Amino acid sequence: MKTYISIWPPLAPEASFPRRLAVLGSTGSIGVSALRVVAEHPDLFQVTALAGGKNARLLAEQAAQFRPPVLAVLDEDTAKELRAHLPSGYAPEILTGPAAYEAIAASPEAELVLSAIVGAAGFLPTLAAARKGKHIALANKESLVIGGRLIRQACHDSGAIVLPVDSEHNALFQALCGHADRNNGAGSELSKLILTASGGPFRGRDEKFLAAVTPEQALNHPNWNMGAKISIDSATLMNKGLEVIEACHLYGLPVERVDVLVHPQSIVHSLAEYVDGSQLAHLAVPDMRIPIAHCLCFPRRVPLDMPRLDLAQIGSLTFEKPDERLFPCLRLAKEAYAASSSHPAVLNAANEAVVALFLQKRIKFMDIPRLIESALAHHTALPEDADAADLLAVDAETRRAVIDCAEAGLS
Ligand code: NDP
Repeated sequence: MKTYISIWPPLAPEASFPRRLAVLGSTGSIGVSALRVVAEHPDLFQVTALAGGKNARLLAEQAAQFRPPVLAVLDEDTAKELRAHLPSGYAPEILTGPAAYEAIAASPEAELVLSAIVGAAGFLPTLAAARKGKHIALANKESLVIGGRLIRQACHDSGAIVLPVDSEHNALFQALCGHADRNNGAGSELSKLILTASGGPFRGRDEKFLAAVTPEQALNHPNWNMGAKISIDSATLMNKGLEVIEACHLYGLPVERVDVLVHPQSIVHSLAEYVDGSQLAHLAVPDMRIPIAHCLCFPRRVPLDMPRLDLAQIGSLTFEKPDERLFPCLRLAKEAYAASSSHPAVLNAANEAVVALFLQKRIKFMDIPRLIESALAHHTALPEDADAADLLAVDAETRRAVIDCAEAGLS
């Protein structure tokens, strides 16, 4: 099996335009940004399906604008509300439930699938797209964290291509283009990858401050406007931990060769270091439309209506090491990846459970790493050939255990 999945094989067939695009998670932060890109370049895309969760009103607005023949939502009540808001004369097929997202991801109607559902719910749809040989613009990093080995295998078997939307991995994708060793991951010319991190809203704060932070403070990211779950992950640095695992799967490097550097301005989106000491970086204003458009149109670059990066105005770019003592989630993620291929699934499930508990104000900010560490400590690794059902069983079991543990007052 190839050790990497993301570096664009130079000879891979280039999808033509207009591209038949299905958007999973269209009502989220990434989905909305992606549809802004599509609206700016309507000649390049034909939207075949839009899938939201429970936000029927926004999905109805999007559907009225792009008129895909298929829509999906989480449940029948949302489908009913959605139907009520669609314009007359437009009657798309409306699918419901988790299987709907997999069906859309695997449908022959779409050649390009944007995987932008949040959390573990994005795993099976991403895997379905990978098994069907799609071009996958991947925002849902959790799918690689849970089942990176299975997704890599599926891409290898089907010829599916993963185009990384996450800004750091997209930056690396750009820094690595032209340097792929097709048989050996990013290969022998690459010495390491350096993921940049903004440091989140609590960079430089002390233990006492962190002990008392509220969800409202944690949701207030200094540079990026994102969904709630990833905003909390950014505040704990778990987001960077998930991204280290994502980078290992995408680019085939061991976890020791993926570094993290805090860069509060969020202008340098990541760097690839080569054996000759060169570091290639990608710089851009922090706006997700840039990596999204890069993936949706790859290898073509398209103009985007947004302010240009003005380095003279920014003046200085700064870098520092992350504080893994105050933000242990980064360390936990690296340890989970090194431990076994099922430990990252535990890490992810525990994290999703504790983020939800924190947002509901049922646990404190510093309970987040504590509960995740406890979940990891109790996990016995699954065999390396564990399948998706095994990993999702671990996911469900971990969530239950973490909630029990929190309720039993570990916090
Ligand atoms: P949001 O919370 O803004 O949006 C999540 C989307 O997923 C919504 O469309 C939501 O539907 C849908 N959804 C939620 N739960 C389910 C479910 N159980 N089944 C199906 N659909 C569901 O998240 P983001 O857009 O911020 O993030 C999406 C993914 O992209 C995440 O994996 C994140 O880590 C990644 N990412 C995000 C970045 C960002 O800048 N936002 C940057 C890089 C990566 P609805 O709202 O209708 O209920």
